[in-house]
Amino acid sequence: MSSAPYTIYAVQYAHRMTNSTQVFYGDYHNTPVGMDYFVWALTNGERTVVVDLGFTEAVGTRRGRQFLRCPSKGLAEIGIDCASVEHVILSHFHYDHVGNYALFPNARFYVQDAEMRFCTGRYMSQAAFRHSLELDDILALVRYNYEGRLVFVDGDQDILPGISVHKVGGHTAGMQIITVQTKHGRAVVASDASHYYHNYEKNVPFMTLHDIPGMYYGFQRIRELADAPELIIPGHDPLVQERLHKVAQGIVSLG
Ligand SMILES: [Zn+2]
Repeated sequence: MSSAPYTIYAVQYAHRMTNSTQVFYGDYHNTPVGMDYFVWALTNGERTVVVDLGFTEAVGTRRGRQFLRCPSKGLAEIGIDCASVEHVILSHFHYDHVGNYALFPNARFYVQDAEMRFCTGRYMSQAAFRHSLELDDILALVRYNYEGRLVFVDGDQDILPGISVHKVGGHTAGMQIITVQTKHGRAVVASDASHYYHNYEKNVPFMTLHDIPGMYYGFQRIRELADAPELIIPGHDPLVQERLHKVAQGIVSLG
């Protein structure tokens, strides 16, 4: 399949400070680490896909995050009206990735079977998994499924010409990464398959995880699928805003 190349936008909507022991498996240095929160938009002038939704101000504040703006405001700055977006890929169901579904009344949401299965399954009684989810988000997704608004993927699948999803697991049961054809080649929106450049570059798992072999598999797939290292966009790394092209305050682009 071919199409006009896409530009990828990373739109920051929140921030927090944490430390290296909280984010890098096996790290005991406790050095301060910034964590940025993004949604991503893929657009080629004809088609637009939004990747992940961010959390709402209410949820972010309750969880002690610094909420900078509603993701819809950042998307509006690059000409995207959430109400008219038809395609939303959900990389996984953690609270910081699926909260603003109500802003997308005309979208269908692309999800992995394994993510829905796990997030409605037996282990949700365990705080270790439940902690990263908002029950209201999961209930909304179940409701959308009943309304026919979820598109289920099991593994790897083309979403539109030039845009595909790839299940990697690791961070969550159904974690998926997104490949995007840009004018520089095939790029990877890794989302939380690699929170930081450091995770996949050094094979260091993130501390919140579903299974460690899946994390390593995700790092491998990120490297395999990207045509060049500079075409990889991690999920929460403040360095993204230095390495990509600055478009506006808190918005950078690739392609
Ligand atoms: Zn996240």
